[in-house]
Amino acid sequence: ETIEKPALETSLKEEEANDDEEGDESFEELGLDPRLIRALTKKKVSIAKPTPIQRVAIPLILEGKDVVAQAKTGSGKTLAYLLPLLHKLFANFGSKKKLAPSAFILVPSGELCQQVFKELSSLIDMCKVQLKAVQLTSNMPVSGMSAALSGPPHILVSTPACVAKCLSAGVIQSSSIGDSLEILVLDEADLLLSFGYEDDLKALTALLPRSCQCLLMSATSSADVDKLKKLILHNPYILTLPEVE
Ligand code: ADP
Ligand code: MG
Repeated sequence: ETIEKPALETSLKEEEANDDEEGDESFEELGLDPRLIRALTKKKVSIAKPTPIQRVAIPLILEGKDVVAQAKTGSGKTLAYLLPLLHKLFANFGSKKKLAPSAFILVPSGELCQQVFKELSSLIDMCKVQLKAVQLTSNMPVSGMSAALSGPPHILVSTPACVAKCLSAGVIQSSSIGDSLEILVLDEADLLLSFGYEDDLKALTALLPRSCQCLLMSATSSADVDKLKKLILHNPYILTLPEVE
């Protein structure tokens, strides 16, 4: 059952409206690890202030809530999930025996996989943390996927199809997902079903532990996004950033 929380939608609209005058809220105030904030200022195009969707989504994700973030392309949804995801993994780092990735980021295309992986890797490098992230691409043979997953990495960026392939080949153990997966992100969720990933996603979601935090990012709301919400999320916070005309 999903419960919409309209109070939050309102607060997001206010954030948007006040963007120009108020704009003083910083990443520090959102409670993020200082290493991440420093890394943002060192990017080629320095990032100093959170966007409206980041302001609202980051604290909720840090609290462990399931979140649906709907905001138009270019509103900063990638960092809205990457920053709190990394913050959490930094905090847990080394605290337990690793058998499988702690976080999956699933995207609808190889191109997006590359983009997200690049952004993620550069943050990890700049923070000088020994977290390992890998991406799986559809042209990889199973042996290549197996090699990429040995270790194993802390974070996996992939299409749902590559994960399903790994599951059916036994390269990712079904039981390890139930034991280890802490965060699942579906980015560009509005495209995942129309790109034909429904069965692949179902194969994965059947294995998710109840404790897994799920985040769904999308540019639009649609029947497909609703279907995914029902499939994956527990009582999520729905954040909708309205189009600004
Ligand atoms: P979306 O996924 O919502 O379409 P992206 O995450 O791809 O948006 O971000 C769009 C662009 O905005 C990227 O170039 C990104 O680096 C930039 N960006 C993200 N967050 C911020 C921020 N807080 N301040 C300035 N630029 C940002
Ligand atoms: Mg995006």
